[in-house]
Amino acid sequence: MMRCPNCNSRDIGKIGSHQYYCWSCFIELTVNGDKMSAYQVEEDGTLSSLDDLFFDGPAESQVHAN
Ligand SMILES: [Zn+2]
Repeated sequence: MMRCPNCNSRDIGKIGSHQYYCWSCFIELTVNGDKMSAYQVEEDGTLSSLDDLFFDGPAESQVHAN
């Protein structure tokens, strides 16, 4: 079970084959292989990357999905 990198909530819904949405803090998570990216959905529908906040540099030590 994945957790939100922002709020640590497990209340994450799947919205696409590689996309998830956190219902607690309203960010979108994209999983690409073993890489995770986080985006904030702006009011106009555009996505702002939050990777700088959550995934400093190479994320090797932070993402261990398996
Ligand atoms: Zn969250």
